[in-house]
Amino acid sequence: AKSCGKNNAKLYSSSLTMQIMSHVQLEVGLRKALQNDELYLLYQPQIAVASTRIVGVEALVRWRHPERGIISPTEFIPLAEETGLIVPIGEWVLRTACRQAMDWQVLGQRPLRVAVNLSAKQFKDENLTQIVLSALHDTGLPAHLLELELTEGTLMDDARATMVTLEQLRGIGVYLSIDDFGTGYSSMNYLKRFNVRALKIDKSFISGLPQDSENAAITRAIIAMAHGLKLAVVAEGVETGEQLVLLEEYGCDLAQGYHLGRPSPPEIIAQMLGDGAAA
Ligand code: C2E
Ligand code: CA
Ligand code: CA
Ligand code: CA
Repeated sequence: AKSCGKNNAKLYSSSLTMQIMSHVQLEVGLRKALQNDELYLLYQPQIAVASTRIVGVEALVRWRHPERGIISPTEFIPLAEETGLIVPIGEWVLRTACRQAMDWQVLGQRPLRVAVNLSAKQFKDENLTQIVLSALHDTGLPAHLLELELTEGTLMDDARATMVTLEQLRGIGVYLSIDDFGTGYSSMNYLKRFNVRALKIDKSFISGLPQDSENAAITRAIIAMAHGLKLAVVAEGVETGEQLVLLEEYGCDLAQGYHLGRPSPPEIIAQMLGDGAAA
């Protein structure tokens, strides 16, 4: 039994070494990913529930690793946050998304809003307002066509600094929304004071619909509250037609999910715009 324990310890430590090594390698790789052009964006359509027209897209980053293939943001965004690389990566995402939204506007002849995810580290960066301003200026995208998605965690962190940054961003005229709503530590009091325009109901609440009566109650309550505060509501993770019908019944404004469109390269979005409808 003793030697067995020893072997286990050895096995464990060698796999731990592997994990640490691959973590270090990933970090080294991520440092070069930007300059080597290995990052790219996919765009997922956001549909107006009532008209089924595409009104916006969310930009979602991917990493095409030379050896490991395509790496999901759930794997490398936390690493980017830990290392601070999220600041230059986030700026690249912002600029690329703004430029793309301008290209569609020319093609589609109607405005399409582009949503960009902002991590807490970016939100705390004192240059954020300047970075956003120069991305808009350099690409020519009107501010109201840029949406910044923040999480509850980001907003609740430091109330005073948060207010100042939010006011600056609002001053520019960008559209602010709260991502993954309902999963963090939301405070209704703050919700009233934050000048955001929309709430995105987290997909964990949508996924059980229509069967899950508790999630249905939560979804309806979020929509009612948001509308009471004059906020728009986006449902995330809509995977079935049944869910879409239910969300329409609840008066949900926008929907996003595999049922309406996967995260897609820009050409596919351009096609959807050309067709005048999604799905
Ligand atoms: P998120 O912002 O909540 O983005 C939604 C995620 O749900 C995306 O995963 C999307 O592909 C996925 N999704 C969309 N529709 C459905 C559906 O119908 N069912 C299910 N099960 N999933 C759906 P993705 O692209 O892997 O991104 C994961 C997370 O990585 C994002 O979650 C966001 O937090 C982060 N992320 C992605 N791109 C960026 C970025 O450019 N900057 C930052 N800071 N974070 C990013
Ligand atoms: Ca998001
Ligand atoms: Ca989300
Ligand atoms: Ca999320």
